[in-house]
Amino acid sequence: MSQAELTELARRFEEYLGDPHDPASRMPFTTVLEHDERDAFPYAFVGMLRRWGFLDYGLPAEQGGKAGNPETGFTLMRLVARRDGATAIALGLTQAAFTPVWIAGTDEQKRRQIADIHAGVGLSWGLSEAAHGSDLLNNEVVAERVPGGYRLTGEKWPIGNATYSDRMVVFARTGPRRGAGDYSILVVDKWRAEAETVRETHPVKQHGVRALDLSGLRFDGVFVPEEDRIGAEGQGLEIALKTSQTARLVILSLALSGVDTSLRTALEFAQDRVLFDRPVVEVPHTGRQLAESFAELMVADAVCLGAVRSLQASPAQVSVWSSVAKYVVPTVLEETLSRLNLVLGARVFLRTHPRFGMHQKMLRDLLVTNMADGNTVVNLRNIGHQLPSLLERALTAGPEVRAAAADRTAVLYGMDTELPVYRPHLQELSSRGLDDAVLAAPRALERLRALADEAGDKDRDRLVAAADIAGELLGRLGPLRDRQARLQADLGRGYAHSAELFDLAQEYCLLHAAAACVHTYVHSHGAMAAPLPSPALLLLQLERLRKRFHPYEPYRDPDAVAEVLDLLTRLHDDNRLLSHWPIALAERTAPTEGVRCAEAR
Ligand SMILES: Cc1cc2nc3c(=O)[nH]c(=O)nc-3n(C[C@H](O)[C@H](O)[C@H](O)COP(=O)(O)OP(=O)(O)OC[C@H]3O[C@@H](n4cnc5c(N)ncnc54)[C@H](O)[C@@H]3O)c2cc1C
Repeated sequence: MSQAELTELARRFEEYLGDPHDPASRMPFTTVLEHDERDAFPYAFVGMLRRWGFLDYGLPAEQGGKAGNPETGFTLMRLVARRDGATAIALGLTQAAFTPVWIAGTDEQKRRQIADIHAGVGLSWGLSEAAHGSDLLNNEVVAERVPGGYRLTGEKWPIGNATYSDRMVVFARTGPRRGAGDYSILVVDKWRAEAETVRETHPVKQHGVRALDLSGLRFDGVFVPEEDRIGAEGQGLEIALKTSQTARLVILSLALSGVDTSLRTALEFAQDRVLFDRPVVEVPHTGRQLAESFAELMVADAVCLGAVRSLQASPAQVSVWSSVAKYVVPTVLEETLSRLNLVLGARVFLRTHPRFGMHQKMLRDLLVTNMADGNTVVNLRNIGHQLPSLLERALTAGPEVRAAAADRTAVLYGMDTELPVYRPHLQELSSRGLDDAVLAAPRALERLRALADEAGDKDRDRLVAAADIAGELLGRLGPLRDRQARLQADLGRGYAHSAELFDLAQEYCLLHAAAACVHTYVHSHGAMAAPLPSPALLLLQLERLRKRFHPYEPYRDPDAVAEVLDLLTRLHDDNRLLSHWPIALAERTAPTEGVRCAEAR
């Protein structure tokens, strides 16, 4: 799908959903908050979005869906999630549960599942078990071979949609040991199961995404026919890990959207709230907090741009891209929301207010992006495992490897560049030291300096400063490799499980994020819509990343902060998604009188 087609689809979708502040729209914040308050599954929203055809954008076109492009599904998910993360997950889980079928299913299996989804069937993805969490090779749900298929016993918990859905795609042990080749993927159909062989567990009350159905499924010898095994027997772990790579990227849409909604709330509040005879937004500290929050959201947006596109443009490297994004995005944006708490003050506590209530909901909902589909620690560990080869390549790669990486980054970060069709079976579990974002960073910095030469005075200085900061950050790769090598030498066998390795992995992720910001500017500046691109924004994005290493050093160009605040205000006034993507939001139809008002209680 081209950039123009995607932005047009997003515009139509927004128009369909309407202004969330308008109680008469299809998905208003007032109803979202009611569901949240009552822990009530959003049946009407899910049904409405299914009828619109939302699920098709996460199902392959070849077998009856409309997708070849996870970027489209990710964008639509952001638009649902800026209203309600629980509805976004409830829908996304059917797509996530289909991913194993997409990866390893036969053409007939794909067609059958998609036809059934069109007829109303919902899926859940049964990977986790209460006793084992991330420790997949100790999972206990067992599938015993019987004539014509398997009999499945054990329990999956906690699982989104376990009660609501009609089928669960289950990761189960089919082999005699607990080795990598002893697991398989089976689809359990609740409606074909004998009554006493499947039982839903009691739904749990949650801290965030409260409206989501989070429960479990207990199997007591349920029969699964051979034809409902996905992929070969023993291929389950590989399929599950590849499924997680995709799912962990899609769920990041919730983090981006949560901050989008909260930042608008905080901006409007600061504009309307008058203290000491002036609007709070004019207090330099508050204005800077808002600009910094926006810059961090745009760091996360740049990281997601490349990472989501890597599913198609660089599937062999997805293990690195998805884990970097899964660490950086929730970690940075949690801090962003904490800063917005300081801007909003006491109103953070107004749980059911149609405007402020959404902020406290987003605060809680964002937490799920830390743990679902592989928690932060598991992802850092994945980067830690690959760190020696990633750093070695980053520092020693020859011109051919770098040129190939540069060609791919032009697609990864070029919003107006067409992507190849998604082929999930091409995803790899290790990237063999390759990370295009980092490998192509020196070339991108050269281009950024060339763009600076062509720019006017102020922009030139900012682009040069941005290139200097990015160069300084990426210059940390050498010392990082030295520390990694020393740690390995000092700790020997204890190295792989050491706490220090996580620190090194975190630093690597932040350097990848700096590269992502530069690549997004270099490869997409021509595809952005005014008021973007902005050298001031790029500079502040990189300053925010640099602050993580030097928290008390002043910004090089404090004036850039005011410009970024203006940019945020313009995007909000123009009713645009807070993103590099030029996405128009639904027309404002809500009466603002009395609602935006800062005295609102
Ligand atoms: C709202 C929600 C929806 C969910 N939906 C689904 C679903 O649809 N399907 C599904 O299968 N699951 C689902 N889950 C379960 C979730 O994906 C798992 O709980 C999670 O992946 C397992 O991780 P955990 O956070 O429970 O931590 P655990 O794996 O229990 O780990 C606990 C802690 O141990 C430490 N730790 C863990 N592993 C390592 C490691 N390798 N190295 C170092 N330290 C480590 C970390 O500090 C971690 O936080 C859902 C969970 C929630 C909250």
